[in-house]
Amino acid sequence: MTVSDTMTDQAHATPDATIASAPARLVREGALIAAIVPFKVKVGNRTQLLVKVTTEDGLEGWGESGLTSREDAVIGALGAFSEFLIGQDSRRIGRLWQECYRSQYFEGGRVLTAAISAIDIALYDLLGKRLGVPVHQLLGGAQRDRVGSFATSTARKTDEVIAEVKELIAAGWDCVRIAPDYDDGDVVHDARASIAPTVEKLGAVRAAIGPSVGLGIDYHHRLSLAEAARFCNLLPEATLDFLEEPIRCETPESYAALRRMTNVPFAVGEEFASKWQAGPFIEQGLTQFMRVDICNIGGFTEAMKVAGWSERHYIDLMPHNPLGPICTAATTHMCAAVPNFAWVETRLDPINTKGLQDTTMFPVQVRMDGPFYIVSDAPGLGIEVDEAALKAAGVADQQEVPHLRHPDGSVTNW
Ligand SMILES: [Mg+2]
Repeated sequence: MTVSDTMTDQAHATPDATIASAPARLVREGALIAAIVPFKVKVGNRTQLLVKVTTEDGLEGWGESGLTSREDAVIGALGAFSEFLIGQDSRRIGRLWQECYRSQYFEGGRVLTAAISAIDIALYDLLGKRLGVPVHQLLGGAQRDRVGSFATSTARKTDEVIAEVKELIAAGWDCVRIAPDYDDGDVVHDARASIAPTVEKLGAVRAAIGPSVGLGIDYHHRLSLAEAARFCNLLPEATLDFLEEPIRCETPESYAALRRMTNVPFAVGEEFASKWQAGPFIEQGLTQFMRVDICNIGGFTEAMKVAGWSERHYIDLMPHNPLGPICTAATTHMCAAVPNFAWVETRLDPINTKGLQDTTMFPVQVRMDGPFYIVSDAPGLGIEVDEAALKAAGVADQQEVPHLRHPDGSVTNW
């Protein structure tokens, strides 16, 4: 018998024999997608777009989408995807990702990948529940038992920032982030005016906490290239562990130019809507931490590819995690399963909770121990959603983020 004969015999023998002896969970019936339902709810001070995917056997998986303030566009995309997803095998997650991404002439884009993210996360939750395993096992298993976070002081005055940062350090945090010296909600936004006082504030914070605690700042991509260079060059050497998003990320070449003007490590990536956007930043050394956002980049399927690509370049993940408990649970499973991890963003710390983790709507969430998220071994994401509480909260109104202006009246980003 030749090798090819053997393969042919196996191929002929496999289908009926496999189906006849397969455990019930491997049989296709029941795993077909029956419904995809979005919930746009106000939680704390933010709108959350949650998505429930139900299979024919009644299992439910939950996902979250992260396109803040344009949730209705994502709901439209979810409706279009539902037309061909319903009736398909919920376990073929990678294939369904491709079909969602490529099922229109104009593939991809952040509205579509925000919708794909929620579906992909929900399908992983479903598959974990179906197999009785936590999502991190579907990703290769946990590489760590707890996932360390950084916390953010949003105070403006230097003495208040130092007090908050010291409170975080006393509570166990070894990495903190502060905000530039501007008011986040100001309609008139003078980024240049913030540079000198922000440099002064950072110097004072670094002097107060010593050299060992990680210190970062998020400029929310509001500087021009020249302003970002000025900011970096005013900073005393080794003040910062990371500068998050000094400029917008649409043009990698601009980050390359900034990279040549400073040695401050960058943390970029929360705006990426695909591995194709992340690629130049990884390959050209334009970011030193990967701020991947699992609810925008395309769920586990895309985020794990970016994680692997980052690992190849010794770039650790520092995931964006500004949403609700479903985002946090998904992000925690991803962080548990990758070797290249630094810190995950948290809003659950002694100074800054913002009510995003409502316990009525989300009765079971990822547990925290000080600065650490505890990796859940419950099936799926390990969270529970009270659908009645979501419905009781009603549909959230359209929420606009501040429409910022430069001092001369021209438009800039929030
Ligand atoms: Mg940010």
